[in-house]
Amino acid sequence: MTQSTHQRLVLASNNAGKVREIAQLLAGTGLEVVPQGAFAVPEVEENGLTFVENAILKARAAARHSGCPALADDSGLEVDALKGAPGIRSARYAGPEASDAQNIARLLAALDGVPEAERSARFQCLLVYLRHADDPTPMICQGTWEGRILEAPRGTQGFGYDPVFFVPNQGCSAAELDPAIKNQLSHRGQALRQWRARLAGDSGRP
Ligand code: IMP
Repeated sequence: MTQSTHQRLVLASNNAGKVREIAQLLAGTGLEVVPQGAFAVPEVEENGLTFVENAILKARAAARHSGCPALADDSGLEVDALKGAPGIRSARYAGPEASDAQNIARLLAALDGVPEAERSARFQCLLVYLRHADDPTPMICQGTWEGRILEAPRGTQGFGYDPVFFVPNQGCSAAELDPAIKNQLSHRGQALRQWRARLAGDSGRP
């Protein structure tokens, strides 16, 4: 398959922020990305211990229920002073139905008193592509975005922890960045570009 061929695939996410960014990143590729909500894919239990396990679980469920190739993004924030937390629990850090604001509040409380030099952190994005539900060789791509955690939220763009994620080479938070710049720099942008390059070089897929 080439990137110019029209190809329908299901995106294994109900997170509006992710869906928006991935749609922007794949605009003009000829790939039609349908969010899994359109196929009534049930929420899968993310009981893996790693991002990649959870991404595979989500992609497999989406491929099974939709009958389409599936792309899943499992992502999160690793904070060094918290030994990598919230990590795979980023979406649910402050509880099962936590809002972005509640997760940020918990993060800032956990880092209360930690000096700037020790607030290093990174976003991780694990992207898994399955050609079908029983695909034994998932295509796995990863992106990492380094930064540090601010002491208070800044900015209104993006989603999740963006308002407290300071991007040193831009001098602002991820939520203060233009969305197109965030896509150029982010963990998700890096992983999506890797995936597109691999797909383009793999004419037998899917
Ligand atoms: P997932 O849906 O289980 O992969 O959860 C990912 C969670 O990580 C999101 O709900 C956010 O809290 C956080 N996250 C992932 N990517 C980003 C990002 O680009 N900006 C801010 N937060 C993010």
